[in-house]
Amino acid sequence: MNLSSLGFFRSLRKDNHQFAVIGLGRFGRSVCSTLHKLGYEVLATDIDEKRVSAALTEQMVGHALQLDSTEPAALKEAGIFEFDTVIVAIGNYIQESIITTLNVKEGGVPHVVAKASSEVHHKLLKRVGADHVVFPEFEAGCALARTLTKPSILERFELDPDNSIVEVIVPDEFHGKTITELQLRNRYGVNLLAVSQDGKFQINPNPTKRLERGSAMVIIGCNKDINRLPI
Ligand code: ATP
Repeated sequence: MNLSSLGFFRSLRKDNHQFAVIGLGRFGRSVCSTLHKLGYEVLATDIDEKRVSAALTEQMVGHALQLDSTEPAALKEAGIFEFDTVIVAIGNYIQESIITTLNVKEGGVPHVVAKASSEVHHKLLKRVGADHVVFPEFEAGCALARTLTKPSILERFELDPDNSIVEVIVPDEFHGKTITELQLRNRYGVNLLAVSQDGKFQINPNPTKRLERGSAMVIIGCNKDINRLPI
């Protein structure tokens, strides 16, 4: 998530309990089953009858329909245009993905999330009106590269391109030192938000608290400063 997605997520209705998912590939199925497990009503659709039946027999969703989403009439008849949020989970069929996204937007769906499989696909989806585009392979690749090069960063939440909140393993250099002694703000320009202890985080830890090697801490700061930490 970044600031450009903020408008989209803020516009989602909190009381919305229904989602439609078009396309039952691996991505679409994972969206369906997660929403279903979380207790939301999901209508799953696919052009492939076998995938529709599998979604029902595996109890991945409550409702599933076979339809060709490039046909506006089929979408209308299935009631897709009545949904507040529709996920177009067709990554490998670019033409079908673009036409479907266009159809769903033209049908008046306020929130359309679409899956892209390339940069160009991403741009095209935006052009035809997708409100939010995800590019899971690209995002997973970036995350893996970051983890491999900085294995001590357990989690990273990018606030914007320059600033992040990171969960990091307390480095050996910090072991046994109090938060006051470490002077993280003066020396590195970062702020400590939390420190882990016995599997839980202590938020705003006491400045006299001593850090222990191997535990985790949560830091906020600009990326340049975070990179200066001995992690
Ligand atoms: P993968 O499964 O490889 O991770 P993915 O999740 O992006 O990729 P795709 O391979 O793009 O999934 O498949 C998406 C699904 O969309 C397929 O099940 C396919 O049958 C379905 N589909 C393709 N064209 C249409 C269409 N016109 N209408 C409805 N469903 C379609």
